Amino acid sequence: MRLTDIRTALDELQMRPTKSLGQNFLHDQNLARAIAAAAVPDRAAFAVEIGPGLGSLTAPLLERCDRLLLIEKDARLAEWLRGKFPADRVEILCTDAIDFDWRPLLQHGPFPLAGNLPYYATSPILRNWLTPCSPVNRAVFAVQDEFAARLAAGPGGPDYSALTVRTQRVWTVHRERSLPPSVFHPAPGVDSALVLLERRTPREFPPVRAVFFDDLVQRGFSQRRKQLKSLLKADATAWTSWCAGQSLPPTCRAENLSVAQWIDLARTLDPAAATPAQHDGEQFDVVDENDHVIATRPRTEVHGKSLLHRAVHILVFNQQGGLLLQKRSAWKDREPSKWDSSAAGHLEPGETYEGGAIRETEEELGIRPKLTPLGKIRACSNTGQEFVEVFTAQHEGPFILPPAEIEDALFLPLEEIQTWLTARPQDFAPGFWEVWKKLRVER
Ligand code: SAM
Repeated sequence: MRLTDIRTALDELQMRPTKSLGQNFLHDQNLARAIAAAAVPDRAAFAVEIGPGLGSLTAPLLERCDRLLLIEKDARLAEWLRGKFPADRVEILCTDAIDFDWRPLLQHGPFPLAGNLPYYATSPILRNWLTPCSPVNRAVFAVQDEFAARLAAGPGGPDYSALTVRTQRVWTVHRERSLPPSVFHPAPGVDSALVLLERRTPREFPPVRAVFFDDLVQRGFSQRRKQLKSLLKADATAWTSWCAGQSLPPTCRAENLSVAQWIDLARTLDPAAATPAQHDGEQFDVVDENDHVIATRPRTEVHGKSLLHRAVHILVFNQQGGLLLQKRSAWKDREPSKWDSSAAGHLEPGETYEGGAIRETEEELGIRPKLTPLGKIRACSNTGQEFVEVFTAQHEGPFILPPAEIEDALFLPLEEIQTWLTARPQDFAPGFWEVWKKLRVER
């Protein structure tokens, strides 16, 4: 949109830009096209724009996507946009992007996110949308320059902060270009910059528990001038040896550690990080067509020869009836990064289905709820030749997820799982398809 178009639109709406909503509208069309191209370099089936305002970015974004979801807090603007864009391709939600529930968007698969963000809300918007298991795979934002510098900073400088480390664990951040105040109406009192965030590839860093990592980093940066050794109350010998292994002085501060070193530190301190993705040398009971044990064989042989064996799946529900889904870690040798039952695993030799379910629930979720049998699934190719007994439980969390096994977990209403599973079965482990069928038959 040109400046005259923005003025005309504001006159039509009989409104003045609202400062408290960060309304500074972009009127440089070349820049708008460049932002859209950075957000959606190749054509996308679906994308989301936060804070579309009068639609300066929306028009060039729509040229690059089949469908666009706009999230605008100001009802006057949301209504105005409805008359400007085709309803069959553009959905407009008048709501707050800070606490927007993006879980129903998982059914679209990974998608790009763009926005000339309201500066008062940049931080909480990023916190909501850029979590490890959100469906966003790429994000381009116009933000306050100072904020862009913090997002993109490297170790050692004053801009390197908890925000930097927490963001860069999951995203690579590039500060693309400066945006002078003159490209906005009204011109803001500060400089802006365009940042591009690209989701890191799944095994770029070793697995780490997000809650533990974020908390550790927050504590580390809470008093920047203080040495980490005393801030984290670290055991002196263990600390000296960890620092030596990382070629860091034992007197180091939070800002001296790279993102990779923060990850290593979290993995060293978090007991849940000790659980491996799979246990080498595991043995499983092999069973016949009637699920009677006939032998015990190593895991590799059971899987390599597709021998029939046993497993349990546990479905944990919360009080609202939501089902906890786990995202399998990228480090699993079978079905990495797929969504699956709340907890699942093989039986150990001689173990009963119930015993296996109690153990797996505790190992994978850190809880010991009452388990109720739901039913049994015959071994088939979808279950990986496993006979599966399914159990249900109720629990509200919190859960302690071993990061080498589980990347993340979230509760979802059953209807949303059904929609997602129908739209994108490839996002789920095939064993879960069978468990889901069983659940729908039994409940
Ligand atoms: N994208 C437009 C442009 O580039 O001209 C407008 C950008 S303006 C900086 C920020 C926009 O975000 C405004 O339209 C404002 O009403 C909207 N907004 C402010 N707070 C919001 C929130 N919490 N959730 C969603 N939209 C918000």
